[in-house]
Amino acid sequence: MSYDGQYPHVSPPEPTPRRGRGNALIVAAALAPTALAGWLVWQAMSGPGDEPSPQVLAPPSQSASAPAATRPPTRSPEPGAAGNSAAPTRSAAPPQASSGASAQGPAPGGPLAGRTVVVDPGHNPGNFRHTREINRQVNIGTNRKECDTTGTASNAGYTEAEFTLDVSRRLKAILEKQGATVQFTQNGDRAFGPCIDERARIGNEAKADAVISVHADGSAAGHRGFHVILPARVNSGAADTSSIVGPSRDLGERIVGNFVRVTGDAPANYLGEKTGLVVRDDLGGLNLSTVPKVFIECGNMRDAQDIALLSSASWRQKAAQGMADGISGFLQG
Ligand code: ZN
Repeated sequence: MSYDGQYPHVSPPEPTPRRGRGNALIVAAALAPTALAGWLVWQAMSGPGDEPSPQVLAPPSQSASAPAATRPPTRSPEPGAAGNSAAPTRSAAPPQASSGASAQGPAPGGPLAGRTVVVDPGHNPGNFRHTREINRQVNIGTNRKECDTTGTASNAGYTEAEFTLDVSRRLKAILEKQGATVQFTQNGDRAFGPCIDERARIGNEAKADAVISVHADGSAAGHRGFHVILPARVNSGAADTSSIVGPSRDLGERIVGNFVRVTGDAPANYLGEKTGLVVRDDLGGLNLSTVPKVFIECGNMRDAQDIALLSSASWRQKAAQGMADGISGFLQG
């Protein structure tokens, strides 16, 4: 999600070393000027309370299927030499760089034929340019919260919004090959947002069999690994998660297990008691969902080792595969 004050004792992310005059030009070339301005504003604010943020509720009660995997001895930035190029940042175009509306579509006769998965790429690359709009408060049942947030970014300027879109497109391609109908909440094809309440509504109206919201975290250096966020039991205002708590946990546990298996990564070392599972009641995208839904934080964009993975196209492909396997197992379970 983003640097969000989850660790108030930790000072905000250090200003990027690329602030020097020459490096600033590099950054400026990489980001549209307005986006850069937005990003700097965001940095100055040390990250608005991103969707995922503060309090973490009770650790998962049961984590039977969360494997107690240990981190492999080495986590090279480019494990194996998959065909994808390995440029450390802004690498390779996603398999379906085109737009959201399915360049491909579901393969007929696959095991997931007739099933609908909504993929929610966290944030939006355009949010940096629309801070006023995304700061509008929306009702998430338990309280009101910002419509959307910018998300985090690496020190080198690789934004969470770019990352989530890339992984989501890869995930879509894999699921469609298995016959699923995949719908996005956004595909970089709108100016900003959608707001978190609309993100939830898209899954609900699609009557999705499963929804996954894709993110990367913006925590302190040294905090490593991925985690899946499950909806807490909430019944307040428009929020009633009673019917989705159970199936969402099943979905989340399957994703954790498959993510570990495919990527070789260990669950987060900084929360969730290393189970890879965290339960939260403060996320509008979960509170307002009426269909099974989880969030995944694929890694920490502000940790040097994690960002080396997140920046790798071949690692992102593995991450998408791990998510797809978890979703597929849940749908066929
Ligand atoms: Zn995020």
